[in-house]
Amino acid sequence: MISLETKVNQLNKVGIVTYSKLKRLGIETARDLIFYYPFRYEDFSEITTINNLQINSLATVNGKVEIIDGRRSFRRKTFLVEAIVTDATGSVKAVWFNQPWVSKNLKPGDEVSLSGKVSGDLVNVYFNSPEYEKIVNAGPVSAKIVPIYPLTAGLTQKQLRSLLKEIIVLSSKIEDYLPRAIIKNQSLLKLGKAVSKIHFPENKNDIDKARERLAFDELFLIQLWSKLLRKKLNQHKGYQIKFYEKETKQLVSKLSFNLTDDQRKAAWEGIIDMKGGLPMNRLVEGDVGSGKTIVTAIVAYNVALNKLQTAYLAPTEILAKQHFKTLSDLLGKLVRVGLLTRTQRIINNEIISKKEFLEKCQNGEIDIVIGTHALIQKNVHFNKLALIIVDEQHRFGVSQREALKQKSSKMPHFLSLTATPIPRSLALTVYGDLDLSIIRQAPAGRQTIITKVVPPEKRLKTYEFIREQIDQGRQIFVVCPLIDPSDKLGAKSVTEEFEKLDKDIFPDLEIGLLHGKLKTEDKDRVMNDFVVGKTKILVSTSVIEVGVDIKNATVMMIEGADRFGLAQLHQFRGRVGRNNYQSYCFLFSDSNDQKTLDRLDLMSKYSDGFELAKMDLKYRGAGQLYGYQQSGISSLKIATLDDLLLAKRASVAADYFIDQYNLDDFVSLKEKLAELNLSSHLE
Ligand code: ADP
Ligand code: MG
Repeated sequence: MISLETKVNQLNKVGIVTYSKLKRLGIETARDLIFYYPFRYEDFSEITTINNLQINSLATVNGKVEIIDGRRSFRRKTFLVEAIVTDATGSVKAVWFNQPWVSKNLKPGDEVSLSGKVSGDLVNVYFNSPEYEKIVNAGPVSAKIVPIYPLTAGLTQKQLRSLLKEIIVLSSKIEDYLPRAIIKNQSLLKLGKAVSKIHFPENKNDIDKARERLAFDELFLIQLWSKLLRKKLNQHKGYQIKFYEKETKQLVSKLSFNLTDDQRKAAWEGIIDMKGGLPMNRLVEGDVGSGKTIVTAIVAYNVALNKLQTAYLAPTEILAKQHFKTLSDLLGKLVRVGLLTRTQRIINNEIISKKEFLEKCQNGEIDIVIGTHALIQKNVHFNKLALIIVDEQHRFGVSQREALKQKSSKMPHFLSLTATPIPRSLALTVYGDLDLSIIRQAPAGRQTIITKVVPPEKRLKTYEFIREQIDQGRQIFVVCPLIDPSDKLGAKSVTEEFEKLDKDIFPDLEIGLLHGKLKTEDKDRVMNDFVVGKTKILVSTSVIEVGVDIKNATVMMIEGADRFGLAQLHQFRGRVGRNNYQSYCFLFSDSNDQKTLDRLDLMSKYSDGFELAKMDLKYRGAGQLYGYQQSGISSLKIATLDDLLLAKRASVAADYFIDQYNLDDFVSLKEKLAELNLSSHLE
């Protein structure tokens, strides 16, 4: 007997190889598998006759296999299976690449249902690797809606579907963790039913209802979690921070630029929050380059004037150094700004020993301590830690921030920063009950980055252009996507690209290579070589995404651009255009799908991250928001940011829950909440 806890290697036809592939997707038990949702569907619910097939459409036909044959292609690289299938109206060819087993499964004379993409030209129409199913009992088969699963890491869709078929009966065993009253009031499907229908819908309505329930749950969990948190926070006293108006004005007047109104407002909101004495829980959201750092500097300065400490967490060593430079240049004469990374301890201009740094931090002799993960280590103590600032908040997990919070005797204020552009109305969906400051205006005088989707035939021209830029003293970023899903850190594709550029295209230039597999010190060295201009081109995976400020870089070239969300492409683009030199962003793609190219072209039409985020939603639709997932909103698998109405319902339901029930009575719901390792906020 199988149960939800059964290991997937106990299932039919799961050998060692398949098991390890499943594990790579995070699937070890039947439970994991049943909660592994399709991300889209192909709709074959209409059966077509062969004479009515349209090229480039999706279709299902029922017919008889006349001939079927498998062979290696003449270059012996691919295995080809070809079949001819006929119905009363005509015959059509079906072709499968590298699926030799098809010729074993199907025999001449079999009645079969084929579903898939119709390819070819006027003379030669064929099904390209269609899904197939033998029609066992004569009589009409219902054509269907076929689920498509994400990231199969070498598994076929068919394999996943057949495994799911085997275990789907277990959906009736899934315990529903929501109170019955909420399910009823919200007219939701039971969880087990929703799970079963998300895998095997019979019609569109099934998909909608299943999605509604599963998306509701995701949103409800976030809302509940953040509302409970807010409740808990409000029971704590935070540090009451007095506003030093005169000093703050002096600081602002010393800046070489005028603050934008949005920057002023964000800083002001932070100051007001901390004045009240309840712990602040605020997110500052602003496009790349919108000037978030100065806002944090103003807030942290006020904390320092209150003789209290700030911990400022940066996701990488480079960024920690960058923030340290900004803050110590600005505040170094007024307060004590420290940098603590794995390799460096500095207070204002003075390099000191680790021991001394830790002592001073513990004694409260450093006001603003900037650092990487090194700040979280057990040996770091504070005297009075009143404010925690986290840059690019999604890079830090819950436990890490928890560790930092432990270093304070009172509940510290919490301010985090993100460049993920989410309109205010949608922030509720993702962050729940959280105070939000949005910096919408770009600082005056920002140039527009010329952005182009470059067709393959213009590639060489682009390299020539890049060379001209380098001859003028500029620097270039080349970003490559992760191609092989097993190669999680993207080392492979980026290395290939690096070698091509280094050997063939620019053999005379110094080129740097950056990816996630490098050791921290190697990363720092590569990054530093680029910062000081020793390397002219930096080839990288998406690890360069966050905040680096390299004023001399003018070209951002992105390979496989269609593999990134618009939000992320926009982040990349924000790495250039940080000086008065005209800057450029070139997008390359192997895709010739018009829709994909149109989506990429939005990058050249819009330079505003918020507009792009909205367009991204339109183009991608449910479950496909990779841009957001990569930006850290990964807890949403089914819900999307435009589920505004559903988010409101979830919010109402969460209030109702807090009002009516005690979480301790809902064990499985409590477990679910604990599993939420969210990109969300203070915990
Ligand atoms: P981000 O929001 O991406 O973190 P930064 O804080 O790094 O942006 O700011 C980007 C650059 O813009 C910095 O060089 C900063 O000095 C500059 N800057 C910030 N605010 C303004 C402003 N109001 N006017 C002009 N330049 C500004
Ligand atoms: Mg920044």
